Parts: sequence; C-alpha cells; structure tokens
Amino acid sequence: MKVFKNIASTCIKCAKCIPDCSSYQFYRDEVHSPRGFLELISQYEKGSLRLDSNLQEVMDTCLLCNHCVSNCPISIPIDSLIQEIRTKQKISLSKRIYFFLLRHSVLKKFVFKFFAFLPPCEIKHKDSALWNLRFSRSFFLDSHPKSIASSKQGGQKKVAIFAGCLINYNYPHIGKSLLKVLDSFGVDVLLPKQECCGAPTYFSGDIQTSIFLVKKNLLYFEEIIDLVDAILIPEATCASVMLKDWQKILSFDEKNQEWILLLKKIQDKMFIATEWIYKFCDFSGIRKSKKRVTYHDSCHACKVLQITKEPREIIKSGFELIEMSDSSSCCGFGGIEVQNNNFEFSRAIGVKKIRDIQQTNAQIVSAECNACKTQIDYLLKKDQSNVIFYHPIELLEQMLERKDIVQ
Ligand code: SF4
Ligand code: SF4
Repeated sequence: MKVFKNIASTCIKCAKCIPDCSSYQFYRDEVHSPRGFLELISQYEKGSLRLDSNLQEVMDTCLLCNHCVSNCPISIPIDSLIQEIRTKQKISLSKRIYFFLLRHSVLKKFVFKFFAFLPPCEIKHKDSALWNLRFSRSFFLDSHPKSIASSKQGGQKKVAIFAGCLINYNYPHIGKSLLKVLDSFGVDVLLPKQECCGAPTYFSGDIQTSIFLVKKNLLYFEEIIDLVDAILIPEATCASVMLKDWQKILSFDEKNQEWILLLKKIQDKMFIATEWIYKFCDFSGIRKSKKRVTYHDSCHACKVLQITKEPREIIKSGFELIEMSDSSSCCGFGGIEVQNNNFEFSRAIGVKKIRDIQQTNAQIVSAECNACKTQIDYLLKKDQSNVIFYHPIELLEQMLERKDIVQ
C-alpha cells in the first residue's frame, strides 16, 4: 500500500529545509538536499526516473534526521517519503542477513554472543562507529529477572522497560542504571519479552520484517499493559519509531486495522525514559556536583518527540549544564547503510559535533540516544578527548548515589 501519494510535488521550493540538512551540509549541492530529494521522488512518481543504483545512492545519503520536516512551512513529511522510496530499493545482502537475524531471536542472540567473544580487531572491518561497536558478554534482558520489586516501600508505581537492542546487547550498564534509578524512586519493574523495535528494518525499507517485529512486540506488550503504569524506553530512536512510526509501518497493510487499535491502547503508556521520570519522580534536593555537562539533542528526541527540556532539567538538578552551539545538529550516525558504505560522510558530520562539544569545556556529554552515543563515543576516542559520554539516566543514577563520576 502506498502511504503518501503525490506529496513530493507539493513542494513550494522555498528552501527553508536546506541549510539544516546534514546531507546538504556535506555535499553542498541541490541533489543532496531535501528539496532535491523531493524533486527526484516527484520525477520517479511521474515515471521519468528509474530507481537505479545512482538514485539509490543519493537517497541513502539522507540520515532521516527530520530537521527538514520541522523546518518545512507546509510540513511535507520528507523523511517518510524517502523511507517509502527505500521500500522499493534493493536491500543489500549484509542487511538481509542482519534482518533475518532480527526475525529469529534465538539465532540472533547466539550470533551476538559469538561476536562478544571475538577479539575486537576481528570485527573492526571498517573505520566507522558501528563496526567498532563491542557486544557485551552479558545481555541486559538475560541477566535480570522478569519482575523486579523495588527495595523501597509503599504505594509504588510499576513500569515495564523496553530496552532496545543497543542497551540489551551493547550497553547493558545503561539498563542497569535505569533499574537502580527506578528502585531509588520506589518503582517496580517488569522486563517483558521484546524484539527489535524495527528501526533498522524500517529505515532500510524492509516493511515486511518491520511489520513482523511490530506485531511481535505488540503481543508481548499486550500481556503486561494492564499491569503497568508506563512502558519506559531509554532510547530516542526506539521511542520515536514506536511512538511515531509503528502506525505507519502497520498501515502498509490495510488488513492491520485491529493491530492499530491495539497499538493505540499500548502507545498511551509509552514514554521516552526521561520524560516519565521528569513527570512522575521527585529528583529535587540532590547534591550538586561541580562537573560540567553539555547535552546533545538527538534528532529523534528533539525533532520527532520534542523532548528537550526533560533530560536537561534532570541533569541540571545535579550538574552544571553548559549548552553547546547547535545542540540539535545531527551527530551523523545515520544507520547501517551510512555506517557501512558512507562512513566518511558520517564522520565529517560527527567531527563538527565533537568540535561543538569540546568548545564548551564540559567534562561530560550526554544524550538520550545510544546510536548518538556510539558515534560520539567513537569520535571522541579517535580524537583522544577526555570528554566522557553518559546517558542522562546514568547521570541521574550517579546523582542519586552521590558519586563523583569524573576523576
Ligand atoms: S531527513 Fe535530514 S538528512 Fe534527510 S533530507 Fe531531511 S534534513 Fe536532510
Ligand atoms: S521547506 Fe518544504 S516547501 Fe520549502 S523547499 Fe523544503 S520541502 Fe519544499
């Protein structure tokens, strides 16, 4: 089913979307700009352009950062149109193998465990953040009980956590921080079964796998939704896909109306983690640290979910917050395609972010997105920087424990 029809040709060519576009900032030509992408899509829809490898290469330079959509005066869903074009593109063999694993979670775990025990040099296939990402030997969801009662007493709330793949397989310490924070606030926790949210498959145009993953997750959530006050998602990309894209994914098949009703019931209780903690937990009165923190607004948190105040308020309660210039500019991570085949482009965008971070003189950089963490961590290390990346939930955990986190 085609979700967006003839929208590309409604562009009034005002160019307001162009200056903030990461792709345009690197390539500096009209073709690699939102307006250029729309023109190509419009020509493709009219039948005067074929979706060949050249067009695919151009479309793959869009980082789906959403900046153009928020700048467009007539709200053309440029990112969604590009995603829709990607559903017609050929999916590379490496991605098809990865997406096959996402559909087969037992095999996926086995393969990720294998990677965790490989020497790091074996998987440093390319000089990109993704290829240098390490797998944990102890996965977050496997190393905790499914139900965790808070050690604090009295009338507590209960939440479920959707960890997301990066926390589950690569950064389990962030999940552990969230458990400790929730325990401090007297919140009981459920860790339901869960699959990938579908971000990599959806952004790459594999709609069938995306639908499969969304439905599996909905079935798991249906079992626990009446038992919890909220489902917390400590990861902006997953939260954005679950809250804003799952309905679009299901809408690719007209027979999914029942699933969309179930989704709406579950979505009412979904929150990016800092939003829920800011609304429902009292984190005032925490001892201030002298450490300086700067905050990076991940594209999915600020442009899609409009979450900017909540993580800042949490950080400000325990640290000195210093704003970097252009905090909402994209870090350049860009997903599998960019990390695999266009990492020079990704790095060029990321290096600007690293400079902006360093100019603040902050000792810590924070963001509620683990794809951004992967990119920023990698580039900071390459730059031999002393700045350390912490998720806002890790900072909150440290505040609650009153530890000084940077020596
Ligand atoms: S989503 Fe981001 S990279 Fe893609 S066209 Fe829009 S501004 Fe450019
Ligand atoms: S801001 Fe919107 S209307 Fe203006 S050129 Fe960009 S896509 Fe077209």
